[in-house]
Amino acid sequence: MAPFIFPDLKDKRVLITGSTMGIGLATAQAFAQQGAKVGINGRKAPEQVDTLLADMQAAGGEAAFFAGDLSHSAGCAQLVADFVAHFGGIDVLINNAGGLVGRKPLESIDDAFFDAVADLNMRSMLMTTQAALPHLRESAKQSGQTASVISVGSIAGYTGGGPGASLYGAAKAWVHNVQKNWVDFHTKDGIRFNIVSPGTVDTAFHADKNEEVRQRISSGIPMGRFGLAAEMAPAFLFFASHACSGYVTGQILDVNGGQFMP
Ligand code: NAD
Repeated sequence: MAPFIFPDLKDKRVLITGSTMGIGLATAQAFAQQGAKVGINGRKAPEQVDTLLADMQAAGGEAAFFAGDLSHSAGCAQLVADFVAHFGGIDVLINNAGGLVGRKPLESIDDAFFDAVADLNMRSMLMTTQAALPHLRESAKQSGQTASVISVGSIAGYTGGGPGASLYGAAKAWVHNVQKNWVDFHTKDGIRFNIVSPGTVDTAFHADKNEEVRQRISSGIPMGRFGLAAEMAPAFLFFASHACSGYVTGQILDVNGGQFMP
């Protein structure tokens, strides 16, 4: 088991959207190692769901899977309701579900593609946060500590994204921005809002790239390589821990090997 580095995360109820693989799963595993109660989510259960949950249990946490398509507002509300029915409340929400959907240059963007990118990256983040709000408020009231919303941004939110990813980049810029308003109006509720903004991380997100493209991208990263999903996880632990970041809100932490410096 990894050493306990954030003791106040033990027993925290942490809902992580889009966490059946990649960054979300690595983050779920890191929270489980801290003794947290973790909800993982995807549109449907991954084949190895029982093993995943048992491993998190063995690592010292509690874990449950909640199916839900977050591209629809009803799916967001249902996920929060299911998690609360299981764990009794929410202390930390991680809005991780997101993705490219596809790559389309300006000439080929149609309404359906626009909607799909906005639904997955913007609607899911907004509506899941909205549904979680009363529970986060209650968490802060009961515990006397801040509750936390951590959303996943992207380097593309600054740079505009790679080929065919203009809508994705713009959606992530929106994610970077929308929390500023929530900081202004919900700090009084004891809720902090922060963002982890990854660079290029070796997950299924980059499954469309061949070795040559990967090498080219790596050569433009000062660290000389893609990041690992597990290397993103500690940033979420930091923002979730009231003891570590209780006075940190409205921030973006770029975890990108130096690939981009805003
Ligand atoms: P991934 O493809 O490995 O994982 C995506 C996760 O989202 C999966 O668990 C999947 O089940 C879930 N998901 C997809 N559509 C969903 C839906 N409609 N409802 C619920 N869950 C859904 O990708 P990843 O690289 O781990 O990406 C995680 C987050 O990090 C995303 O928001 C992504 O935009 C962001 N990000 C990734 C990178 C990167 O280089 N990998 C860089 C910057 C930002």
